[in-house]
Amino acid sequence: MGRCYICETELLEKSPTHEGNKSIEHILLNSIGGKLKSRELICKKCNSEMGHGADQELAHQLAFLATFLAVERDDKEPNKIIKGAKTANGEEYNIGLRGKPIPAKPTHKVTPGDKGTDLHFTARSEEELTKNLKGLEKKYPGFSVDEAKKHFKWTEKYLNEQVSIPITIGGEPAFQSIAKSAVNFYMLNNGEREQIKHLIPYLKGKETLDVVQHYHVSGAYEMDENEVLHLLHLVGNAEDKILYCFVEFFSSYSFIVLLSENYSGDSFTETYSYDVIKGEKVDKTVQLDLNKAQLKEIFDNKTDYRGSVSEKGGRVIQIGNKIAWDLELERITKNVWDKVFSTVPEGTIITEDMVQRLCIELAEKYVEFINRSNK
Ligand SMILES: [Zn+2]
Repeated sequence: MGRCYICETELLEKSPTHEGNKSIEHILLNSIGGKLKSRELICKKCNSEMGHGADQELAHQLAFLATFLAVERDDKEPNKIIKGAKTANGEEYNIGLRGKPIPAKPTHKVTPGDKGTDLHFTARSEEELTKNLKGLEKKYPGFSVDEAKKHFKWTEKYLNEQVSIPITIGGEPAFQSIAKSAVNFYMLNNGEREQIKHLIPYLKGKETLDVVQHYHVSGAYEMDENEVLHLLHLVGNAEDKILYCFVEFFSSYSFIVLLSENYSGDSFTETYSYDVIKGEKVDKTVQLDLNKAQLKEIFDNKTDYRGSVSEKGGRVIQIGNKIAWDLELERITKNVWDKVFSTVPEGTIITEDMVQRLCIELAEKYVEFINRSNK
């Protein structure tokens, strides 16, 4: 019978004599698309006591890529809207699914005009517009929300500028969450609690340990052109008495978790990788064979990893941009098609005139889209 690896309580299903204490533990955070999970690792009580702050911090750090790539989550919760993006002029934007920029706030400007006061408004939704206009009703007697709405025009445009968004990754408590993923993965693969029990106070946030490090190495595995992976690679080395796990998120952020320097189990390796683009598990052969000295060096010489992260992250952004591009072309095409044929009753024979209208409208929209960053 399984036991909780944190507190060693027996894990039981709900039954007439027991209320059940199993809990679902995601090996990799569900918010970043982690699908691997188990009900045989941690009891309900420990799960609720474990550092959720740590998981939240890591989830927060990885939220941009999760939203940008529209990763699918188990809990079906929508991906987060990412705040804090800015254009070069300092205009603020939020980033939605697939990198869609959304103005961070509605704007309004009041200027004296020829016949009174001119009001300039922007709003992101009908609801927001109504709410803002209602505020004016009190301020300006005779102002009518319905009348003002008649002058309002909804437009859709491309943002012809780059936005930048600051991303930090690592540090405590995010490292704690990364270590938990590694321990989870080890325990999931018939790990022995004895080998990792020294890490438990750390996982609970009650102790600090230097067991997680940024680690970027090229050629550890072969990467297909359009794949973006979450990857876990566990190594037990009996000769050197070391147990460690290579953890990589979005093929960009890579870490080594030192699980034990007194490992007394057998030599083995175990790999799990999940392609967030395809939404499926993929097989990877990882070549990573660190000895004790090399492992020690990673923790002693904390090397500058930022160049590697930006190179690997840049590749992922390109992949995401290509997907967004294809989807946008699809959307434009569908919209134009619907617009041109919406007035035509079903069964109408398509005339040359209609085809021509379709072509002209499509060309216009495509040009607008393609030129969006060249204006
Ligand atoms: Zn427990």
